[in-house]
Amino acid sequence: MPQQPLAQVPLDSKWHWQEHGRCRTVDPLLFFHPQNERGSSRSRRDQSAKRVCASCPVRLECADYAIRAREPYGVWGGLSEDDRETIYRKIDQPRGSHLKSVPGTGIAAAKELVNEAISDDALGIYHFPAS
Ligand code: SF4
Repeated sequence: MPQQPLAQVPLDSKWHWQEHGRCRTVDPLLFFHPQNERGSSRSRRDQSAKRVCASCPVRLECADYAIRAREPYGVWGGLSEDDRETIYRKIDQPRGSHLKSVPGTGIAAAKELVNEAISDDALGIYHFPAS
């Protein structure tokens, strides 16, 4: 389970969803890049973490939390650090805005981008056409 710096935790946060995360049975190092990891190595690790998130029953709660907390590191809710930076630019909310304190507002502000992050295209999953 990803860990977060306490200073950024939204005050209203409820944590019960974390008890149901798929990542509870996965090495946490899959979700955080080691120092100096770049390029294809980083992309492959991020995609592997995203595949875990894609089947996680609390993905939306996790993504919502990460957006509102502006988590700086790791894959959360299927969102990599780069995915979240894109979302932050789109929603253009300053730190401490209402997004931080209202559960659900993180997802509502960027629903399409949250779904795109773990789409089949993003994960490199190809479906054979039906015959
Ligand atoms: S969405 Fe991903 S990071 Fe979040 S709890 Fe589920 S598996 Fe863990």
